[in-house]
Amino acid sequence: MQQVKFGTDIYIGKDALTKLNDFSNERICIVTDKFMVESGLIEYVTTNINDSNDHQVFTDIVPDPTIENVVSGVEKLKEFKPSIMIALGGGSAIDAAKAIKLMGVKLEFIQNVKLIIIPTTSGTGSEVTDFSVITNKKENLKYPLVDTDLQPDMAILDSRLVESVPPTITADTGMDVLTHALEAYVSTEATDFSDALAEKAVELIFEYLERAYVNGKDSEAREKVHYASCLAGLAFNQVSLGLCHGIAHTVGGKLHLAHGRINGILLPSIIQYNSNENQRALERYALLAKKQGLSNSKGKVGVRSLTNRVIELRSKLNMPANFIEAGFTKADVAPYLSQISEQALLDPTTKTNPKAPTQEDVRQIVSKLF
Ligand code: NAD
Repeated sequence: MQQVKFGTDIYIGKDALTKLNDFSNERICIVTDKFMVESGLIEYVTTNINDSNDHQVFTDIVPDPTIENVVSGVEKLKEFKPSIMIALGGGSAIDAAKAIKLMGVKLEFIQNVKLIIIPTTSGTGSEVTDFSVITNKKENLKYPLVDTDLQPDMAILDSRLVESVPPTITADTGMDVLTHALEAYVSTEATDFSDALAEKAVELIFEYLERAYVNGKDSEAREKVHYASCLAGLAFNQVSLGLCHGIAHTVGGKLHLAHGRINGILLPSIIQYNSNENQRALERYALLAKKQGLSNSKGKVGVRSLTNRVIELRSKLNMPANFIEAGFTKADVAPYLSQISEQALLDPTTKTNPKAPTQEDVRQIVSKLF
């Protein structure tokens, strides 16, 4: 038996933020980063919070939030005791808010706090997932926490908030969306429900991501990519991810490269690895290629068409094809290769990869990209 769960209420469209007007006499804590305040983007939120509410802003979130970041957020929570938390930002602010709330509840500092997510990047899908990725700086490790209590209550998708995302981050986050959808599609747990979500996400990314990258003010493209991100999040929240994320989390802890860029580097190699000697994965990738109008062929030719489309998109987004192009050398990864191979297998997202990898498989995939 598998559960199909959609635990988050989603509001979409240009007036979606007015949903915040529904709240009165609440204590609202907004978790965000300094950029949201300096750029004025936070006003999209604060202007929709009516005066009967008391609100405070916690702006200390850093990219790839750390355990320390979460601990200081929990302190803030303990003092302010909010009844609503709003996360405004990219995956980093969202994941931090989710972890802060989880810890606050477990430590009994707060109870019954509603968590509302307003994403300002189109990438992680974290607004609808029960995942949160937190970095342990001392050990250079990224931990994906997976807990049903991390599931947000509400997500508000207003694509005006992503129009200021610079092209490089648009590319990185968009490639993260594509990776979520493709990993969900071949996950060992994939169902017709997750397939429907993943297929639509892939279609929207192939059609609109390049447009959003070339012109960030293209509101139609921004909206479609924003929705693709959420759809891919809904897909992988049902059936989890795969080896690409397993490796990306461990490499990201060591090399400090944007999460989506690491996925973009790994993705073609992972497709090839998964479809080699795994009939189910091969057929699934080929089916997806067919549904996207990339190929009419079954089997390896279909997989090749899909891989080529990913490589073509990555190149149009001026993204690196390997870690050398991303500015690293073999010497940067050499001390960590054993640890990466070991930890990628332990990462919870690797469990649903269509093929069970060995440490040697991971070592070879990563080494070839340096
Ligand atoms: P991010 O949140 O780290 O943001 C990247 C940068 O973009 C930051 O400097 C931020 O200030 C800036 N930014 C955000 N919104 C902006 C806007 N509208 N205009 C201009 N700049 C803006 O990046 P991300 O890719 O959204 O999130 C990455 C994090 O999410 C990583 O830690 C990754 O591991 C995690 N992640 C989580 C999940 C999940 O399911 N929880 C899934 C994938 C990735």
